[in-house]
Amino acid sequence: MSRVRALDLSDVQLPLNAAEPDHYPVMEMFYSLQGEGFHQGKAAFFIRLAGCDVGCVWCDVKESWYTAHYPTYTATALAQEASRYPARMAIITGGEPTLYDLRPLCQALHQQGFQVHLETSGAHALLGEIDWICVSPKKFKPPLDEVCRQAHELKIIIYHAADFAWAETYARQVPASCKLYLQPEWSRRQQMIPAIISYIQQHPQWELSLQLHKYVQIP
Ligand code: SF4
Repeated sequence: MSRVRALDLSDVQLPLNAAEPDHYPVMEMFYSLQGEGFHQGKAAFFIRLAGCDVGCVWCDVKESWYTAHYPTYTATALAQEASRYPARMAIITGGEPTLYDLRPLCQALHQQGFQVHLETSGAHALLGEIDWICVSPKKFKPPLDEVCRQAHELKIIIYHAADFAWAETYARQVPASCKLYLQPEWSRRQQMIPAIISYIQQHPQWELSLQLHKYVQIP
């Protein structure tokens, strides 16, 4: 079986949409509930941009790694689509959305009255006015210090017990006001949920994040 590789950007200048900064390749967009972290349970419009160069082995959206075969939308078209639904929270996710200049998309969403949230590994500099930044560091491409310093929420995926120490290294890099979450990697949840609960009981600055959307089987 061939190994899937993330987007190779070694010869590419970021942002990927430099030539057309208000255009974005979109893997999917949908209206659902935020399933993770501080805003868990709230209705939101999700925009999943295509393209990721991080390459997490346990990634559950590997089909997002490449931009080919996905349609491109303008920022205005995405904001108009989001506006069809009553919630005014828009979550830009991926893939790795910081591969793109997000300024036109944030502006278009703000003009429609949205709070703009971002889910990122923090691997690249942020371009855009974002109201809520969730940084979820990945071992395969660590987050930039400057992105950690802007985080409102730090979400660490726990795959094995050694990840608790790894989580603490990033907790020292985010602002004191940043919310701290530990979330079991989905395929390891049976083993890791008891360990996470025990860890949070001893380190109550952390909170548990579960992928609620997977339990209730919504996108
Ligand atoms: S950063 Fe996200 S989209 Fe990219 S490989 Fe890792 S989990 Fe998948």
